[in-house]
Amino acid sequence: MEWFTVGVFAAGALFAMQLITILNRCHRFRGFVYESAKFSPAERTTIEVHVRPRVGTAAICSGCHQPAAGYDHLPERRFEVIPLWGFLVFFLYRMRRVNCEACGVVVEEVPWASGKHQLTKVYMQFLAHWARKLSWKETAEAFRTSWDKVCHSVQYIVSWGLEHRTLGPIRAIGVDEIQYAKGHKYLTLVYQIDAKLTRLLWVGKERTVATFEEFFAMIGQQLAGQIEFVCSDMWKPYLRVIREKCSQALHILDRFHIVAKMNEALDDVRAGEARKMAREGHEPLLKKTRWCVLKRKENLTSQQRFRLRDLLRYNLQTVRAYLLKEDFQQFWEYNSPTWAGKFLDEWCRQTMRSRIEPMKKIAKTLRAHRDLILNYFKAKKEFSSGVVEGLNNKAKVTMRRSYGFRTFRITELALYHTLGKLPEPELTHEFY
Ligand SMILES: [Zn+2]
Repeated sequence: MEWFTVGVFAAGALFAMQLITILNRCHRFRGFVYESAKFSPAERTTIEVHVRPRVGTAAICSGCHQPAAGYDHLPERRFEVIPLWGFLVFFLYRMRRVNCEACGVVVEEVPWASGKHQLTKVYMQFLAHWARKLSWKETAEAFRTSWDKVCHSVQYIVSWGLEHRTLGPIRAIGVDEIQYAKGHKYLTLVYQIDAKLTRLLWVGKERTVATFEEFFAMIGQQLAGQIEFVCSDMWKPYLRVIREKCSQALHILDRFHIVAKMNEALDDVRAGEARKMAREGHEPLLKKTRWCVLKRKENLTSQQRFRLRDLLRYNLQTVRAYLLKEDFQQFWEYNSPTWAGKFLDEWCRQTMRSRIEPMKKIAKTLRAHRDLILNYFKAKKEFSSGVVEGLNNKAKVTMRRSYGFRTFRITELALYHTLGKLPEPELTHEFY
């Protein structure tokens, strides 16, 4: 042998030995042995690790999870493991079939993979972990794999999590709808908003009575009966289901949704008036005032503040609507439901006399939901919508970056994955 052949051989042997040592340290399985590790003869960037059963250990039946007598071997299968320094790593293993007394002739169960998945469990958990921090596309690129494999990985980890999570006890929930595709395609999201635990509990297609009822079917009557607070917007189907399924709970209308509705009305007034003035050939006083009136005072830029001060000198509907909206801010400062109620009634009376249609509509809505709105004060402001609003914003970000296809299934997966706080299989080694 030439000196350099000896050298290469020794390096190869050393490499194989060290890789096996590492694997035994971080990813060891009872009943199996890492036999050899070498570069693939066909692919320079691939490392192949041969795995074999430990002599004298019986295979486990995948039907009943009990040891069973061997039957035969299947052709070698490849299982993808976490890549190492830019090299793809595969386990090569010939699955055994067992002749199980209970299940007949079935394939064995191996601890590193599940079902027909080509990816090992640990690799799926690894990819799913990164898919929470990066977009799915970025995750696929970073680890030289495909978007589909990232998606499979998330699917695996989410179904494991849903199967193993503990649902109760649930003290407070918030329900909200979110648009997930163009053309009024909505999802119903139910969050747990307890002080100690906030998480996404459930995702439902559409925002109907039937949708929301599915959530209560999932948690069951016992848990539903223990819910003390429910936060929602004014969406009728939600209100109805809450009345029926959670009659014992204090139902609170979200502050965030009321403020949003108020801003919508103000924006309608402003846009309508701006159009009217343009039509009648007036000076474009309302140009570039949208954010001046919609933003909270303390968030205005100095230029916007000047613009607003200027605007307030005119007797415009927009200005009057703006002042009504600003006045309403005080409402949230009250502590007593009684005084808050008096303020609300007075505000509605004034607004009804304003002859500004969108604002009158708001006043009517607030009157119609008076009790639910005042529940906010009865709950001692404990469940302000801040929590639901925050979760909803996270949901929107997740939907924007997590997927290539806007299907319900993918959206649901991505949302559970990032917001569900689902448990994960325990690993003996921290791979990430
Ligand atoms: Zn069996």
